[in-house]
Amino acid sequence: MTFNPSLPSTSKFSPTQGNPPHIVIIGGGFTGLTAAYELTRKGYRVTVLERDKEVGGLAGSFEVNGQPLEKFYHHWFTNDKYVMALVEELEAQDQVIYRPTRTGIYYANNFFKLSSPLDLLTFKPLNWFNRLRLGLFALWARRIKNWRKLESLTAKEWLLKVCGSQVYRVVWEPLLRGKFGPFADQVSAVWFWNKVKLRGGSRNKDGAEMLAYYRGGFAALAQKLAEAIAFRGGQIKTNITVEGVIVESDRLTGVKTNQGIIEADGVIATPALPIIADLLDDHLSSDYIQKLRSVDYLANVCLVLQLNRSLSETYWLNVNDPNFPFVGVIEHTNFEPKETYGGQHIVYLSKYLPESETLYQMSDQEALNYAIPHLKRMFPEFSRDWIIDYHFWRARYSQPIVVRHYSRLIPSHETPLPGFYISTMAQIYPEDRGTNYAIREGQKIASFVETQYRLVK
Ligand SMILES: Cc1cc2nc3c(=O)[nH]c(=O)nc-3n(C[C@H](O)[C@H](O)[C@H](O)COP(=O)(O)OP(=O)(O)OC[C@H]3O[C@@H](n4cnc5c(N)ncnc54)[C@H](O)[C@@H]3O)c2cc1C
Repeated sequence: MTFNPSLPSTSKFSPTQGNPPHIVIIGGGFTGLTAAYELTRKGYRVTVLERDKEVGGLAGSFEVNGQPLEKFYHHWFTNDKYVMALVEELEAQDQVIYRPTRTGIYYANNFFKLSSPLDLLTFKPLNWFNRLRLGLFALWARRIKNWRKLESLTAKEWLLKVCGSQVYRVVWEPLLRGKFGPFADQVSAVWFWNKVKLRGGSRNKDGAEMLAYYRGGFAALAQKLAEAIAFRGGQIKTNITVEGVIVESDRLTGVKTNQGIIEADGVIATPALPIIADLLDDHLSSDYIQKLRSVDYLANVCLVLQLNRSLSETYWLNVNDPNFPFVGVIEHTNFEPKETYGGQHIVYLSKYLPESETLYQMSDQEALNYAIPHLKRMFPEFSRDWIIDYHFWRARYSQPIVVRHYSRLIPSHETPLPGFYISTMAQIYPEDRGTNYAIREGQKIASFVETQYRLVK
């Protein structure tokens, strides 16, 4: 296979004659790994550079009793078709497990089961009319096709209009505040509609929620992808941070890393937009850099508790109580059995927040001490000696804020620097970020890069 530089679309670039182009991919999360997998399949030379010590990105893991566990809770919906197709291609379908899950809400010091539409009938915080209204809203919202009509509305405006104020105050507002904090009133109706659609679509024929997981966790799938990349000659280098780009005569020639320069014919950047803006700052106009910085992001913290007993039977507990400092209590071992982790019960306490918030700045020990009294209030039996071990994970760029007319803020794959391409979770729209869409975006950017550099067999 040779590289044919004579094709018009390649005229901006002059990779080494005869060799396939060398594409450097910044970031070994699911977007970067998928792009690398696709490009190595097509015969490109690919190097993935990952800052962390392992691949996986936000879906990365640590070990509990020798078993990988996500730092931040993860599952798939049954309608996550891109991930399922990839898993099939990797001949790993038998590794995907589908299970029903129990969902609930904590409101006014009470727990309510909300796993199926029938549970709504017993949801006492709403009057009868509003229980019905909420159920009908969930069914109706899933059928909306033309999401562009929602682009000019905030979720708040839309929900108040279609669900009324009681449903908004009891159910939706606390969730929006918990998830988006100071940005809650700015979040677009499109983001909200998509969440209802996705979650509502992941159900069995009785209406109960079904979710999917991978044996060995998401890290095992990331590892499988990494092996497929290596099998085709791609390189994955971890513990290496890209610090800038090398531009000679207005042409990208490589990247600068903390371990030296790596030459490249093309670069695909997958980290968050502010990180990409820093990499390009010295080379592109301030208007362009400003555009990259116009998407805000929230950070996330997850306090992961390894317990010697269970907190409840619920997998996913939405916390609709503004006095509780976490938006979700996710008991992972009510989804993946505790036996996977040597009999330990795994609980995530999750919170999205600006990085300036005290909780984000806390040490691991401080975060635990802060959480315990709140947990005791919610589960009076809970005692500190249930905790076998704990971990406090932080991610600075974990959720782009999808505001009204978000489509206007999304940068295109191509940048003003020829050969430098962007594929990052902030470009996922109208869907919200997730590994399913990271895979789709990785495939898209690989196809796009292929149109720029053609290989001739
Ligand atoms: C709390 C939480 C819960 C989630 N739950 C789910 C879920 O249940 N299901 C689901 O599908 N998705 C979930 N997600 C979303 C999912 O994790 C992400 O959408 C997906 O992993 C993003 O992949 P990515 O490759 O686009 O980005 P990332 O995973 O962010 O990958 C980018 C990579 O770039 C690396 N990097 C950054 N800067 C540099 C640099 N200068 N040099 C080298 N490398 C660099 C980073 O270390 C990172 O590995 C969740 C996310 C969070 C935060």
